[in-house]
Amino acid sequence: MAKKKVLHISTECYPAAKAGGMADVVGALPKYLIDQSWVPTVVTPRYKLPWFDQQTFRNVYSGSFEMEGKSTLFDIYKVKKGTLSFDYYCIDIPGRFDRDSIYLNEFGHGFQDEAERNIAFQRSAMQWLNDPKSKVSFDLVHCHDHQVGFIPFLMKKTETFKRLKDTPTFYTIHNGAYNSRYPWTRLDLLPKFSPKFSQHIEWDGYMDAVAAAMRFADHVNTVSPSYLDEMKEHMPALQFMSEKEPDKFSGTLNGIDNEVWDPRTDELLSNKLTTTVDQFKKVNKADILSELYHLNNIPLISFIGRFAHQKGGDLLVPAIERVLARFGFVNFFILGSGDPFIEKKVQELRDKYSERVACFIGYNEGLAHQIYAASDFIVMPSRFEPCGLNQMFAMRYGALAIARNTGGLKDTVVDFEAGGLGVSFDYDSVDDLTHAMGRALHLYKDQKRYKKLRSKAMKMDFSWTKSAKEYARIYNQLTR
Ligand code: ADP
Repeated sequence: MAKKKVLHISTECYPAAKAGGMADVVGALPKYLIDQSWVPTVVTPRYKLPWFDQQTFRNVYSGSFEMEGKSTLFDIYKVKKGTLSFDYYCIDIPGRFDRDSIYLNEFGHGFQDEAERNIAFQRSAMQWLNDPKSKVSFDLVHCHDHQVGFIPFLMKKTETFKRLKDTPTFYTIHNGAYNSRYPWTRLDLLPKFSPKFSQHIEWDGYMDAVAAAMRFADHVNTVSPSYLDEMKEHMPALQFMSEKEPDKFSGTLNGIDNEVWDPRTDELLSNKLTTTVDQFKKVNKADILSELYHLNNIPLISFIGRFAHQKGGDLLVPAIERVLARFGFVNFFILGSGDPFIEKKVQELRDKYSERVACFIGYNEGLAHQIYAASDFIVMPSRFEPCGLNQMFAMRYGALAIARNTGGLKDTVVDFEAGGLGVSFDYDSVDDLTHAMGRALHLYKDQKRYKKLRSKAMKMDFSWTKSAKEYARIYNQLTR
């Protein structure tokens, strides 16, 4: 059977450009689709990030289009195959993406021109695909999150991209809390289309990328089954649409890239797993906790993530204070950035308990790997979690998850007292989080039981293979 071709369009892809879990997914899923008889290609913007400086490029396409009366020029480059096992293209739009961060400026704020940059990226990609001179063709286009949510609509309903109208589209919601919505005064950002379609990209009086994607994509999925259920509960419109077209909506759990995340070979670890897990933990703790007291024989609980309301970062500091007051023998490592108030609270906590708490404010991929390797528990007090990858990385590196029972965490972390391999809690409150960390510390005291669970957790199969099969099954249906 001839292999079919899928193009992933995304603003992130590991290792080129990563801000969070979407990059992990877009960097890993394509690799695993190859075994499912799909030939994957990825296209992202070209940023001024270190990875791009290390690549060799070939200019494959140049184009321009009018947006709000001004012309936008762009170039498409193909990256010479190296570390990536799939074709990778990046779109250079001068003045829009040639910045040294993906979404946030140096003050942690979004850029002012998000509408222009996101739509310019989508239009450039569409023009490239639509132009017979570009000589590229795909059987399916897979769009990742709101930044590229207008694409299914642009393909199906605009004259400008009419060659693409029969190509099926797949849309993945990586995080339903974020959206690209613009006032109608920005209509000229999009190419011309019949006014009768305006209502189809409208939500609450705005042009809305997620609403457009949900209406025009041929398939929509979330990154875990439980998150789809939760989204339906909160969005009656989604509930209604999925009742009308049940086959169009699904929840597919993300996997993790076992090639990148392997404690035995992980290039970002200075101490790989070579002998026992105890030894692995000991040497990695020694590396990152050198400032802390009693580092080898007391448990380490860590948090890695964005300091955002979603992640429950605000619950963390007061809960840790209570745990320190009650249990004493425990260390914490916090790696993250985001809300300046939480950043300040974390630093104050570290200053107050400098023998017990370490932190790094910022984004540091290597340190994240090191922390998974050193920790005994990873805490995830998320208010909602579309999938969550940290819990899976943690288990593979011998750390159990202390996770709130929501979204993808619900699908992957079952409480040890209910036969699972983690510590699960229900409420997004300081009390419940404190209680959960306390239960984790009690479990840790029973080293025999803890190590048995840890050993099982390390053997859990969170690889992409199963989920890639599910994606391929839906792709095959859409392209039959
Ligand atoms: P998100 O909602 O942020 O996408 P996920 O759990 O899906 O959450 O993915 C988070 C990814 O980002 C993981 O690979 C995690 O290790 C990484 N990560 C989050 N914050 C940091 C940080 N400050 N430094 C390094 N890696 C981080």
